[in-house]
Amino acid sequence: MGKDRSSHVLFFPVPSQGHMNPMIKLAELLALAGFRITFLNTHHNHERLLRFTNMAAYFERYSGFELGTITDGLPQDHPRSGHWFPAMFEDATAMKIKQSLRDMLVNVSPPVDCMIVDAFLGFALDVARELGIPIVCFRTSSPCCFWTSYSIPDMIRAGELPINGNEDMDRLITTVPGMETHFRCRDLPSYCRAPDMEDSFIKLIVKQTRKSAEADALILNTAEELDGPILSQIRTQCPIVYAIGPINALLKSRVNAKHGESYHHFSNTLLEEDKSCVSWLDKQPNRSVTYACFGSLTSMSREQLIELWYGLVNSKSNFLLVVRPNSVIGKDGEGDDVVNELFDKTKDRGYIVDWAPQEAVLNHPAVGGFLTHSGWNSTLEGVVAGVPMICWPYFADQQVNSRVVSEVWKIGLDMKDVCDRKIVEKMVNDVMVDRKEEFAKSAAEMSKLTYQSVSVGGSSYSNLDRLIEDIREMSLKTPQKVIFS
Ligand code: UDP
Repeated sequence: MGKDRSSHVLFFPVPSQGHMNPMIKLAELLALAGFRITFLNTHHNHERLLRFTNMAAYFERYSGFELGTITDGLPQDHPRSGHWFPAMFEDATAMKIKQSLRDMLVNVSPPVDCMIVDAFLGFALDVARELGIPIVCFRTSSPCCFWTSYSIPDMIRAGELPINGNEDMDRLITTVPGMETHFRCRDLPSYCRAPDMEDSFIKLIVKQTRKSAEADALILNTAEELDGPILSQIRTQCPIVYAIGPINALLKSRVNAKHGESYHHFSNTLLEEDKSCVSWLDKQPNRSVTYACFGSLTSMSREQLIELWYGLVNSKSNFLLVVRPNSVIGKDGEGDDVVNELFDKTKDRGYIVDWAPQEAVLNHPAVGGFLTHSGWNSTLEGVVAGVPMICWPYFADQQVNSRVVSEVWKIGLDMKDVCDRKIVEKMVNDVMVDRKEEFAKSAAEMSKLTYQSVSVGGSSYSNLDRLIEDIREMSLKTPQKVIFS
């Protein structure tokens, strides 16, 4: 017999911009489908979202959509700046979060019927198993990164890892099935460059990746059309995989079908968006601007910023550059000095902001190229908008993603491991001027594929329907109320 209430799904992302964005979009998709949702943020991020977004008012439109909070296990005075969240995975900290999660699940009413958690939160699987709650892992980084990370033990066994000091970084990697023809040493996730495979971060990545494959199912933010061959490989280890991306396009497609094209979408941002850059773009000719932005975690040296800036200034294109506060590392505040100086010098060629409304920018007709750090969300947002990319990967999956963009999809260039003004200038000119039509054509074709995949009958559209049905079915099997001591 069915339950006389909507199924209740709990979401729990890793508290970083790039992990939260696709998770909140999926939560909204499930709310649209009639599920009751609890979306858990850490206290810290919840406060930031309340400060910079209309989150609380926005989600009131969905009945039963709750915004919950949970500890990140760290002391209150922890700075939580830069790439801080791996601190959450240290044993003692993870244990605190695990306990809070368990307490919450035991006490919440109505009970949770299914959990969708970030694939890095392995401890959530233990809690779900203990309480008998079905659990689906959402790996928000790229499928190619999931697959290379999953294959690390095989690469070690085959002697392809560790990479030794004098390595030819262009050597092809042969032990990651499906990637043998085009993935080089330098295209592996950045953590694979560790000299010692006993490195604690490598071990954590392998452990969490393999553990997430033990969940009831795996969700990936991609489309069959974008990553089909790798999805087939992943399915040999994780039989139930839902490819429901690009999730920004899927959400837009479903929300617009319900509320119309002029619907004002939720912008899940941890920093204040400077919308003045859109007014600046309004004054620029079509496809004339390079948008340069490096995500929410990248930091760079003063020298690197100067090289990037000169490359842009010397190119034949105008530019919109995002420099996040405190993202430039210099001695004794030198980072801030250089940013202030560049602001002044940029006025006649470009515009600089702290943080942009990225999706609006990428979809603006004035933008013709994207100089990106190749974070997975940024990559997919560029693909959907049909904007060719110049990739300057910083860390984690970005090294893999930039190779996919340049060699698999052929919608951009990969500037990996180099930060030199001449090369920046050359690549920007290639994408914006010299090979403009070639890249614009391939990017437009790729964008069209993504739109097909998220439209009625498309692969991601149908995979989401399957996920919705499967969650309903799983929910029927969960106990009506779990009572534990
Ligand atoms: N983003 C944004 N404004 C900015 C920079 C980034 O809204 O100025 C958003 C971007 O649209 C993307 C996310 O932040 O959704 C960054 O995620 P990504 O996976 O690209 O990179 P990460 O920040 O995790 O390195």
